[in-house]
Amino acid sequence: MAELEGPEFGKADFVLLDEVTMEQFLENLRLRFSQGRIYTYIGEVVVAVNPYQALALYGPSAVERYRGRELYERPPHLFALADAAYKAMKRRAKDTCIVISGESGAGKTEASKYIMQYIAAITNPTQRAEVERVKNVLLKSNCVLEAFGNAKTNRNDNSSRFGKYMDINFDFKGDPTGGHIHNYLLEKVRVVPRVVPRVGAAGWALVPRGHRLAPSPCSLSQSRVLQQQPGERNFHAFYQLLLGAPAALLASLRLCRDPGAYRYTREGTQGSACGDDAAGYRAVEEAMAVIGFSPGETGSVRRILAAILHLGNVRFVAEGETAAVEDAAQLAALAELTATAPDSLRRALLTRTVAAGGGELIEKGHSPKEAAYARDACAKAIYERLFCWIVGRINTVITARGYDARLHGKSTVIGVLDIYGFEIFDTNSFEQFCINYCNEKLQQLFIELILRQEQAEYQREGITWQSIEYFSNEPIVELVEQPHRGILALLDEACLAVGTVTDSLFLASMDARLGRHPHYTSRKLCPTDKTMEFNRDFRIKHYAGDVTYSVEGFLDKNKDTLFQDFKRLLYNSTDPVLRAMWPDGEQSITEVTKRPLTAGTLFKNSIVALVENLASKEPYYVRCIKPNDQKSPTLFDEERCRHQVSYLGLLENVRVRRAGFAYRQPYHRFLLRYKMTCEYTWPNHLMASDREATQALLEQHGFQDDVAYGHTKVFIRTPRTLFCLEQERAQ
Ligand code: ATP
Ligand code: MG
Repeated sequence: MAELEGPEFGKADFVLLDEVTMEQFLENLRLRFSQGRIYTYIGEVVVAVNPYQALALYGPSAVERYRGRELYERPPHLFALADAAYKAMKRRAKDTCIVISGESGAGKTEASKYIMQYIAAITNPTQRAEVERVKNVLLKSNCVLEAFGNAKTNRNDNSSRFGKYMDINFDFKGDPTGGHIHNYLLEKVRVVPRVVPRVGAAGWALVPRGHRLAPSPCSLSQSRVLQQQPGERNFHAFYQLLLGAPAALLASLRLCRDPGAYRYTREGTQGSACGDDAAGYRAVEEAMAVIGFSPGETGSVRRILAAILHLGNVRFVAEGETAAVEDAAQLAALAELTATAPDSLRRALLTRTVAAGGGELIEKGHSPKEAAYARDACAKAIYERLFCWIVGRINTVITARGYDARLHGKSTVIGVLDIYGFEIFDTNSFEQFCINYCNEKLQQLFIELILRQEQAEYQREGITWQSIEYFSNEPIVELVEQPHRGILALLDEACLAVGTVTDSLFLASMDARLGRHPHYTSRKLCPTDKTMEFNRDFRIKHYAGDVTYSVEGFLDKNKDTLFQDFKRLLYNSTDPVLRAMWPDGEQSITEVTKRPLTAGTLFKNSIVALVENLASKEPYYVRCIKPNDQKSPTLFDEERCRHQVSYLGLLENVRVRRAGFAYRQPYHRFLLRYKMTCEYTWPNHLMASDREATQALLEQHGFQDDVAYGHTKVFIRTPRTLFCLEQERAQ
């Protein structure tokens, strides 16, 4: 006998609320959260509240309870959703995707791991070795990606600083045969923490343990650009290496144990420690070995991490007009770790080659400030490419090989998307702009798929539809991405312009061209608004709320320039991994004439492709909610939850489900599943059409008031009817 939840647990589906109001929604959410019932449905959408405690919900017995069951047979759970996506893929050969959204710390990554764990548990009953290998690599890849792509932030000790979309391929038996990971916009600025000017003694910033730091060389242009908040850390991988590597290995990398000794990791040494970095180091080593990284490759990865730490400590002094490296030993260590010639390395750090007229090349010396800026750009670029190389390396291991569709039937896919949620910080920069744009696009897809397509289907099927109002965020998406007129286009235009274009000139151009847009304002256009700074800030009215962005750094980050000298240097490294990361380093400066696509445009293109990909699949949604900012398992902060429910569009979602029908199926498919429950339809009906047979079946069970008959499909209003039919079927 299947279990249902009693009324004391609140409503398992928000569709069953007495009234669809924010108050009732929150009350139901709170009640369920207080009882450890962290999952609730809206139709087929799972709303998940982060429990901030280990719950016994995910063990092998839970897997068995959900395996092969229909969504409404058991209490709401991620496993039920994963099973539904899996069934759709296996039974109906549908490509499906599971989109997990929510703000930072809401539980997206944990949810994605439970979903993968479930899929791994229910597949490959015959224990085929190749399938086991693929499953193992897919599961282990999380550990490696988290080490290199996650960091401790003020919101989440294990915050994903990149977006991840993972496809899992299945063969005709429904077993995983491979996969592919796409990564989106790693927050590489995190590699180079901003020096926070806290205690300002004559322009010096004090940092813990008596280290004194000179003011950031880029402080003039980037003083207020958010990179890393106080107490946040760099990516886990750095601390894992420093705190977990054996002493002999550290010595060979010319490193000491103390993260406080390196400019890039020093900030993160304040505040609470983050998990056990030493244990993390061992887990990553093991995971890399299981995935198939060779010892040589793992060694290169460690050396590259060490090189980045050393690079951060390189300091420049003025020697006449140009810069010189302060500490020669530092340079020697760096040359050794990057397997580059010391002299070439010195030149790449201190000069850049520019093409003069007539194909002539001249070497131009950096000032100390320019050299420091180029050094940090190089550190960020190396880390970003290292991350992409790791993702690519994992992909070579899991890409489905040898799959012949003619022999094995169509290969189907389940995609799992775990991507950063909406971000509003005290200071918001280019990264938040990109992340929030991505969220607008995903919200638009959600609106389109869940709301608009529902309505369209009812209309197509000739079912009376009570139209409901919903907020469309299309104008905001257009504001950002419209060709020639959108913010990204204006930004590219500013980056391409000749002459000196500054961030504030770019802001002026936005003001002039977007001033009338209902979702755009700047201080100049709204001089009375004292919350914005003149010549610096602009504001976008996002669907999730107003966000003020500081325009500082937009041009630089969009251009994402790295001098060709660095690329060539690293391409000429004798370390095969490092060299493989710089295929574009082969070009000489005179060949680099075509401007590469800007960071903003590349990001936009990747998000457009992602959305197209998702739209081609049958979507399943997990909407994660963070109950409080204190990481407390008991506190339900009503205001915080209200805000999230509102911007995730959950009330609208419930309204649509209620106005409509929880379940629909083409007549013939419905009969295939339920015909044994009715004497008129078993084993085959003799009626004029499947529609009439369906009608007879439902009337015999007394469900006629809960259904509607469309041209090709039957629509059932409440989940309970379906549940009763399932029970009949099981008897
Ligand atoms: P970000 O956008 O910053 O990456 P996120 O939404 O991916 O955030 P997670 O890292 O998944 O958030 O979750 C944050 C923390 O919350 C986890 O490290 C874990 O401590 C806790 N948590 C989340 N989901 C669960 C769960 N189902 N059970 C127990 N703890 C959880
Ligand atoms: Mg995450």
